[in-house]
Amino acid sequence: MKITVLGSGTSQGVPIIGCGCRTCTSANPKDNRLRASVFIKEKDTGLLIDTSIDFRQQILRAGITDLDGILFTHHHVDHIFGLDDLRQINQRHKKWVDVFGNKFTLDEIKVTFRYALDEELISYWAVPLMKFNYLDNREFEFRGIKIIPIEVFHGRIKIFGYRIGKFAYITDCSRIPEEEMKKLEGLDVLILNSLRRLPHPTHFNVEQATDIALKLKPKQTYFTHITHDLNHDETNAGLPDGIELAYDGLEINID
Ligand SMILES: [Zn+2]
Ligand SMILES: [Zn+2]
Ligand SMILES: [Zn+2]
Repeated sequence: MKITVLGSGTSQGVPIIGCGCRTCTSANPKDNRLRASVFIKEKDTGLLIDTSIDFRQQILRAGITDLDGILFTHHHVDHIFGLDDLRQINQRHKKWVDVFGNKFTLDEIKVTFRYALDEELISYWAVPLMKFNYLDNREFEFRGIKIIPIEVFHGRIKIFGYRIGKFAYITDCSRIPEEEMKKLEGLDVLILNSLRRLPHPTHFNVEQATDIALKLKPKQTYFTHITHDLNHDETNAGLPDGIELAYDGLEINID
């Protein structure tokens, strides 16, 4: 399995429009963060987690030409607003794409992208074509790949992270219930959100995300959904062994 981090930034991305801080003006490409998303290639199947606002730019940059399924974490703008460009995958490969999420997330996507779903209004191939798959938090299989939704809290709403084999991806989380923590044992790689140093009501900060990583002990943890408060090199220098900030373009291979 190969994982590519397409975006490691929080909802505004980094640099933030109009900001002149050291991270936003940094010459280090790892301080440039598009909105959070990853692409997973497992055998012949391409899975995207979220269609960030930067989806088009991200898949062009990563050289991705096809995908089979999209796992949505939740409905917030930074995670879904690139969805319209799914059209290019539909048209080029003449196919509908399977999308997955919990009921709340998929229902919200149906409202936001109503133009793509109204049978009377749509002209096929001019809208993103999706097959909706509603999930509860139990393991399911897609094209022979076992996928485990991890139900976590993002402030007061319940959203999904996902585990595939020894890899898990959790973003926009502020609390992981005990029983869901059990599903995250024995990982090789965990990608987990860590917004900034100060506490935030709906996202883990560095201290909370570090606590989770030290509890779960994956071989490697990468932090994502990062704002400009966290300069890449300076932050990494202060993190414990086995924990680093992710960056756009990071590639991870897992057996
Ligand atoms: Zn977000
Ligand atoms: Zn800044
Ligand atoms: Zn969110």
